[in-house]
Amino acid sequence: MTQVRTDVRVLGDRYGRVARDLRMSLTDRCNLRCSYCMPAEGLAWLPTEDTLTDAEVVRLLRVAVETLGVHTIRFTGGEPLLRRSLEQIVAAASALRTPDGQAPELSLTTNGIGLDKRAAGLAAAGLTRVNVSLDSLNRERYARIARRDRLPDVLAGLAAADAAGLHPVKVNAVAMRGLNEDDIVPLAAFCLARGYRLRFIEHMPLGPEHAWDRTTMVPATEILAALATRFTLTPAGQRGAAPAEEWLVAASDDHPAGRIGVIASVTRPFCADCDRTRVTADGQIRTCLFARTETDLRGPLRAGASDDELAAIWQGAHHTKAAGHGIDAPGFTQPDRGMSAIGG
Ligand code: SAM
Ligand code: SF4
Repeated sequence: MTQVRTDVRVLGDRYGRVARDLRMSLTDRCNLRCSYCMPAEGLAWLPTEDTLTDAEVVRLLRVAVETLGVHTIRFTGGEPLLRRSLEQIVAAASALRTPDGQAPELSLTTNGIGLDKRAAGLAAAGLTRVNVSLDSLNRERYARIARRDRLPDVLAGLAAADAAGLHPVKVNAVAMRGLNEDDIVPLAAFCLARGYRLRFIEHMPLGPEHAWDRTTMVPATEILAALATRFTLTPAGQRGAAPAEEWLVAASDDHPAGRIGVIASVTRPFCADCDRTRVTADGQIRTCLFARTETDLRGPLRAGASDDELAAIWQGAHHTKAAGHGIDAPGFTQPDRGMSAIGG
């Protein structure tokens, strides 16, 4: 007879969803200034004393995995490679076990700068895979979007991640009208040739105020139409809780078979299947990228709360998770913090 465990708690909500995938932001700082994410200048950083220490990050990861059954942790930011102790945090996270004895899957979302020197060490520390953001293969255009001329560093980082076995290497690209639509096909060809999994992300209203506009966003239908001019795509099947809808790409003379995804958060929201929970670099729970409120974990943590008490606060926050992001709702307003401060 199967034993029912009564000691296992989960991050459930009123709509029957359970969050098992944690996005843990390690810093709000970044060495790029992507126009869809950050203003060119003038963004105030979190004071150091407000940012969770390594020990605090690891304590919250332990509560998430060991008490609340979170089985996937994605380190993000800002730029998580700016956290010098990332390898130590990854190593501590890889020693955690879910209540049913599983090691969590550990991944990293990064702009790839500096990954060439750290990929092997991160893999050795227990990192499972990486998502590297890359919006253009044209150096000048990359520099215009990221406001920094760093394309060669990103390409070196991607190659190092591949060599370190951080598979599947995923590449994230945000498509923007008039900026990098011409990159859709070249990015796909580049990734297919190297066995990287490319995912296009619809531009979301999360960057500097007024930077988003429905007319400048390239919707999933247009991304797929552009891909269809060069590749033969067939739907890869059920998405489950994953944000990307995936397509299988047939092999051709110049590339092997592969997969391409589209994360259509705006035009095909997947909120009903969302299994994510987020913690900002200053220890605030966010139940959604677009949530208007946050729940403080850092204060109770520093005041001596037990693991059980922290888990209860986290559960209470998730209970109130909204049904959807509401981008299409009348009166929608962007969250006060931008993507780099929330942790994308
Ligand atoms: N710095 C790392 C990076 O760029 O991968 C991690 C943090 S970044 C905020 C995480 C992801 O969010 C990146 O893939 C980035 O392209 C995406 N992103 C940032 N702002 C966005 C926006 N307004 N709409 C859609 N995606 C966005
Ligand atoms: Fe930095 Fe990532 Fe935001 Fe670009 S998307 S500015 S790399 S945090």
